Amino acid sequence: MTKIVVATRNRKKLGEIAELLAPYGLKTLCVADFSDVPETLEDGSTFAENATKKAREVAKRLGRWAIGEDSGLCVDALSGRPGLFSARYAGEHATDDLNNAKLQSELAGVPEAQRGAGYVCSVALCDAAGNVRLTEEATCRGVITSEPRGSNGFGYDPYFLIPEYHRTFGELPSIVKRHLSHRARAFARLTPRLATLVRQDAAFV
Ligand code: IMP
Repeated sequence: MTKIVVATRNRKKLGEIAELLAPYGLKTLCVADFSDVPETLEDGSTFAENATKKAREVAKRLGRWAIGEDSGLCVDALSGRPGLFSARYAGEHATDDLNNAKLQSELAGVPEAQRGAGYVCSVALCDAAGNVRLTEEATCRGVITSEPRGSNGFGYDPYFLIPEYHRTFGELPSIVKRHLSHRARAFARLTPRLATLVRQDAAFV
């Protein structure tokens, strides 16, 4: 089975990516399991820039193919915030609970009809020399609830309602998120092309 490094230290995100790659015979390795790989400074001005930076730095450092992923929640009523800063919305030592509390306080008084939001996921694949070989980006639209519902997923999932299902990602089983989410959509386009590159590249490590 071919193994590819994923440049994320978020184990829940890694688990979702592993599930999306597995049907193609691709196994994931977590960057956190390698020693001496510094954390990438996420200073890009777009999700795509950050995803590419993560993939490139890890690929070059390890001399292996690497996937970089950057994602976040863009809320319409907040002009796209928290966006690029979704992981650290409540500050440098933010937790999911603190981020959600801040989101709720910013949305206080905003009616449900104006609570539309999009989860965005940008993915980049770099080869072992750090060349960008593939990129994709996808969005999943939903509505931010005012109360948490369910405990599946991570991050903002208990507040992210998929109107067609009348359920949040916190309530929906992981198999549904694996088909609908921003990450699922981006990887649905990236993974078949990644599998082709792997087959063509005898030196793939
Ligand atoms: P990143 O690791 O810099 O890409 O941070 C992504 C952040 O966006 C996460 O820490 C979450 O707060 C949020 N996020 C991205 N994707 C999801 C998701 O699928 N569910 C819930 N929150 C997400």
